[in-house]
Amino acid sequence: AGRPRRSLTTDSARFAREVLEPVRAIVGERGLLTDRDAMQPLMVAWRDNWEGRVPLVVMPASTEELAAVVAVCARTGTPIVPQGGNTGLTGASQPHGDDTEIVISTRRMNRIRAIDLDNDTITVDAGVVLQTIQETARAQGRLFPLSLGAEGSCQIGGNLSTNAGGVQALRYGTARALVAGLEVVLPDGRVWDGLRGLRKDNAGYDLKQLFIGAEGTLGIITAATLKLLPLPTASATAFLATASPATAVAWLRRAKALLGESITTMELMERRCVDIAMRHNGAIRDPLADRHDWYLMVEIADQGEQAPLEARLLAAFEAGLENGELLDGTIAASAEQAAGIRRIREGAPEGQRLEGASYKHDVSVPVSQVPRFIAEADAALAARFPGIRSFAFGHLGDGNIHYNPIQAEGGDKDLWQSFLPEVNLIVHDIVARLGGSITAEHGIGRLRINEVPRYKSAVEMEMMRRLKRCFDPQNLMNPGKLLPDAG
Ligand code: FAD
Repeated sequence: AGRPRRSLTTDSARFAREVLEPVRAIVGERGLLTDRDAMQPLMVAWRDNWEGRVPLVVMPASTEELAAVVAVCARTGTPIVPQGGNTGLTGASQPHGDDTEIVISTRRMNRIRAIDLDNDTITVDAGVVLQTIQETARAQGRLFPLSLGAEGSCQIGGNLSTNAGGVQALRYGTARALVAGLEVVLPDGRVWDGLRGLRKDNAGYDLKQLFIGAEGTLGIITAATLKLLPLPTASATAFLATASPATAVAWLRRAKALLGESITTMELMERRCVDIAMRHNGAIRDPLADRHDWYLMVEIADQGEQAPLEARLLAAFEAGLENGELLDGTIAASAEQAAGIRRIREGAPEGQRLEGASYKHDVSVPVSQVPRFIAEADAALAARFPGIRSFAFGHLGDGNIHYNPIQAEGGDKDLWQSFLPEVNLIVHDIVARLGGSITAEHGIGRLRINEVPRYKSAVEMEMMRRLKRCFDPQNLMNPGKLLPDAG
């Protein structure tokens, strides 16, 4: 996508003189990588499906250093790939494969700057690992609720740049909802200090929101002031069986009325997800005696005592049984049992990876449309690709389904892989017809870049392009990501 790129190393003497040496003078030897082997882990995506190549990785230790490096890039027209924990799933944090960019990594910017317990905010450098923020908040009796499978290695700058969701978004919102202020280095090297710890601020446009979910295309986030919440004192976890996505949605409606704000997690899974998770991980067990077609993994959390909270979940479960929305279920009686239930959900993606070619979709539709989406997509794919195995799981409460059908059992993996564009088209056209989005959580990156114009109106594309040009007229920030023809 975009204009042809120029390799930075075609004129290596010039690159050394104009970029490498000025950058070295700013960040010192510790802040640089130029050795291909040392850079390699930062070049490859978590799923191994993207790999890039750059002549230089810069790891500034402070906002001032990072801003000075970006100023060098602006002066010399050097394209930049911002990188956090490199756990993104869309190829957005990998450079292209041809030495046309440099990577700026925030891994050395990892200070907790301040905690304000009266204001319930924490201010952190962009490179702080998500789990560190959770643990720091917890040590102060507070909750930072953003939670996802990659939390031990993803960084808050990456979480904000992808507007990460995760398993608790139903209650606490996506990353966007948890930000009070940002500090950003703009593509020309200036620093915008928007680190205001305010919950109310109507003085003009809410500029921080532009950088959240921008996938590093408008500037580099260097710090954030994040909102903290009260730490729940009780939680309960259940594994429930239901007949279909429609009955799951019906029970969700009842559960919201009975359990209100306390629902943090409402994950839907079809039986095949459970089977495959168990097949590939001996530690995973089905806690129910009978087989069912669909399941819900539910978690609730609140202030107060444990027993009344569990009793509320039990009452909602029993109401579901009485009304035919649920067929069976169990409520964890210990932290160990709760962990066992969570493992089933967590084991689904890994089990799927080992089953052959699969087609990953991270879509969202209105919650009311989830049953229709799954039914229509299953029928359309089965008609076109006999033997294809349906594999749907995800955040039902947010209407965010990871709809990841798997190739027919025993079929040729390469052949099935070649069907990907057509499978995407079928699935995403149904999503669009139902008023949904082709990416609910993971973003566009390079993975969906060529699909975007089909699903956004000309007006929306034009607004996005204008914003990009306004912030980054040289198209230096993560080129070839998010916007197909920004260059
Ligand atoms: P990176 O991968 O390094 O970068 C992601 C994007 O942000 C790139 O475009 C990059 O250029 C940009 N970027 C990074 N840092 C900055 C910065 N400081 N300023 C500007 N731009 C920047 N995602 C979810 O939403 N929900 C999930 O439940 C979820 N589960 C996951 C489970 C696993 C096992 C894995 C591997 C990934 C999962 N993800 C999930 C995807 C991924 O973890 C998130 O997208 C995460 O937010 C990325 O953070 P990161 O620090 O690794 O960013």
